[in-house]
Amino acid sequence: KSKQAGKNRFQFYARDMQSDALARLQLEADLRIALERQAFSLHYQPIVEADSGELVGAEALIRWIHPERGPVSPLEFIPVAEDSGLIIGIGEWALREAARQSRQWRDGGHAALRLAVNMSGVQFREAGLPDLVGEVLAEFGIDRGGLMVEITESVLMGGSESMESRMRAIKALGIGYALDDFGTGFSSLSYLKRFPVDVVKIDRSFVAGCPDDRNDAHLVEAIINMAHSLGLQVTAEGVETAEQVAFLRELGCDFLQGYLIGKPLPAEGFEGMLEQHFLLPAAHKRPRWRNR
Ligand code: C2E
Ligand code: MG
Ligand code: MG
Ligand code: MG
Repeated sequence: KSKQAGKNRFQFYARDMQSDALARLQLEADLRIALERQAFSLHYQPIVEADSGELVGAEALIRWIHPERGPVSPLEFIPVAEDSGLIIGIGEWALREAARQSRQWRDGGHAALRLAVNMSGVQFREAGLPDLVGEVLAEFGIDRGGLMVEITESVLMGGSESMESRMRAIKALGIGYALDDFGTGFSSLSYLKRFPVDVVKIDRSFVAGCPDDRNDAHLVEAIINMAHSLGLQVTAEGVETAEQVAFLRELGCDFLQGYLIGKPLPAEGFEGMLEQHFLLPAAHKRPRWRNR
């Protein structure tokens, strides 16, 4: 009898695994169609300078509305796109769309706005990536500093020499790098020196505990100081409260991003924030004598 139960359990797991694999295959097939039909869109989340509250940039975040399932999170479909190689086409689409939008906003008088595009490590395995980026920049006339690329620590970890030289070739085109979700991976400080990173983005899981959780608060302080001593700027992600804003300003964090400042919105919605321009009240400059 127990043998029978074991067998049933095995069958149960096998069936489970099978349906998992099937669901993934289905998602992959749906993604392929979505790519052909260009069924993705980008939302834009504002990034402000911490002290002034001035809108200086935005992160482009991909969105997909599945015909039957409705919105599917990029956290679910990006990994499938990476495994299947579809990320090459999806990433190219996102880059081009962000560049097109950047051109439009630049022409509309927002020349200083810096758009950040997320890129997968899989894209950096393609020898043609620097050429592609160069073509897109030229096609839309994006000048130096107009676009940034966000990559995660894991991209640097697996970083070969060819990937490093690709990164540098793209950097030479005038594109800066932000290291995304910083603190969640296993990267060491040596990566920050070796690769041409400009900005470190503190993962929102650490910002979430600030200022009350002492471990998170100390970690965030350490990351900001370390980044600054390496000549890098720092963006805090996931800023949701006024207390976090005050705390991050106190530590000298350079840029802030999060729901408190603004949620990711479709381009038309983001334009409202562009008009507003200052999305947070400026920091109170304390009289000097109080700092002594
Ligand atoms: P990410 O690059 O770290 O993007 C930040 C994520 O945090 C976004 O989730 C954003 O909506 C969310 N977020 C921002 N502020 C807050 C906040 O205050 N509170 C909370 N709880 N969440 C906040 P989203 O849009 O679901 O994207 C998830 C991830 O998917 C991104 O993380 C990025 O790794 C990936 N992704 C998005 N678009 C692309 C893309 O075009 N290409 C690639 N390769 N990956 C992408
Ligand atoms: Mg990002
Ligand atoms: Mg991030
Ligand atoms: Mg993240």
